[in-house]
Amino acid sequence: MEVSPEILERWDKEFFWHPFTQMKVYREEENIIFERGEGVYLYDVKGRKYIDAISSLWCNVHGHNHPKLNKAIEEQLKKVAHTTTLGSSNVPAILLAKKLVDITPKGLTKVFYSEDGAEAVEIAIKLAYHYWRNKGEKRKLFITLSNAYHGDTIGAVSVGGIDLFHGTYRDLLFETVRLPSPYLYCKKEYGGLSERCVQDLLTKLEEVLKEREDTVAVILESGIQAAAGMLPYPKGFLKGVREITKRYNVLLILDEVATGFGRTGTMFYCEQEGVTPDLMCLGKGLTGGYLPLAATLTTEEIFEAFLGEFGEAKHFYHGHTYTGNNLACAVALANIEVFEEERTLEKLKPKIELLSERLKEFWELDHVGDVRQLGFMAGIELVKDKKTGEPYPYGERTGFKVARMCWEKGVFLRPLGDVMVLMMPLVIGEEEMSYVIDTLKWAISKL
Ligand SMILES: *Cc1c(COP(=O)(O)O)cnc(C)c1O
Repeated sequence: MEVSPEILERWDKEFFWHPFTQMKVYREEENIIFERGEGVYLYDVKGRKYIDAISSLWCNVHGHNHPKLNKAIEEQLKKVAHTTTLGSSNVPAILLAKKLVDITPKGLTKVFYSEDGAEAVEIAIKLAYHYWRNKGEKRKLFITLSNAYHGDTIGAVSVGGIDLFHGTYRDLLFETVRLPSPYLYCKKEYGGLSERCVQDLLTKLEEVLKEREDTVAVILESGIQAAAGMLPYPKGFLKGVREITKRYNVLLILDEVATGFGRTGTMFYCEQEGVTPDLMCLGKGLTGGYLPLAATLTTEEIFEAFLGEFGEAKHFYHGHTYTGNNLACAVALANIEVFEEERTLEKLKPKIELLSERLKEFWELDHVGDVRQLGFMAGIELVKDKKTGEPYPYGERTGFKVARMCWEKGVFLRPLGDVMVLMMPLVIGEEEMSYVIDTLKWAISKL
């Protein structure tokens, strides 16, 4: 059935409730309806072309319509699209599990699949909680950070710290202790991401742990609070948290959903701090941006706490219909192979340097209050008054207006509030990168 762009637009507004979208406003505006993609380019139903500068919400890695990734799905499709993994298995899920154990930090030896990042976090939370139960300890407290984001299901929201998204549900959530958001705290109290600030934050963590022997785990995003507006941690923070969690015998859950698969310059951010968590959550880039798949990796120690005779009922009563889906696992495996074949991380290095260089130019703009970067992830914060740092009123949607101006010039962006996000596919060329940066600079300069 061929349906005209006009009818699609009408039906989109009539039937489709979009995520994180004020539908009243959406229905009053003209929106993009994507139809196809090729490399770093996306095309809409009207034939307009855009560079995908946010990797289709941070998940695309090697570009759209990649021949090897397409082929992996096509080949698997000829065999079977989906078979259950509840008590049985499938070939790509086995191969991928082995591969993930090979490429993640030493010590992570078991893979539990799900479909989205939030589920990977839910599973980590439940595994951590259940682990202590199986060890005969009743613990219940999770330690989190202000401004954390781990997804939108209720468990993930419980450990989240963005009041705008999470505040409404407060009554439904379990107890957590929230430490300050490292970037914002260090900037406010120490004028920057200093070592002294790291020590201060770690002392705060220790104080909580001394008080609360019922702590299950500390849960953190790895390296950067991305959804909060690209707020990187000071160096050494993660390493310090790992040391303290070990010392106090509590688990460390690292959420690498946004940072995994090369986004920070290494395959996973925790490598840069030499940290192995007890539980690690993967999603987004796991399938190169092709299909929904997530994974929670864990250690032998945690896995073994769930072993017992059937009648002991110690096992993990958790699973989803599509857990370990064959097509998704097949493409995830191909995604990792492309990293090796195309030397993606090696080629990314000069692009990260180029990004750093070019980001400096944004400081000169009148309405830029801060510029932040971790690897190939960047955030440019717009402010109404550069001198005082006064933000634009929330209702004005300044970030979104800037994004729309970029759309007009063929650059697809989606900001986080008034933080302009650059999260380009790792495969992007330097010329396209420059076009994205020039366009964004131009749009901000028009404010
Ligand atoms: C996106 C994200 C999630 C949630 O993943 P979904 O697939 O959207 O459920 C969790 N944690 C982090 C750090 C994320 O960036």
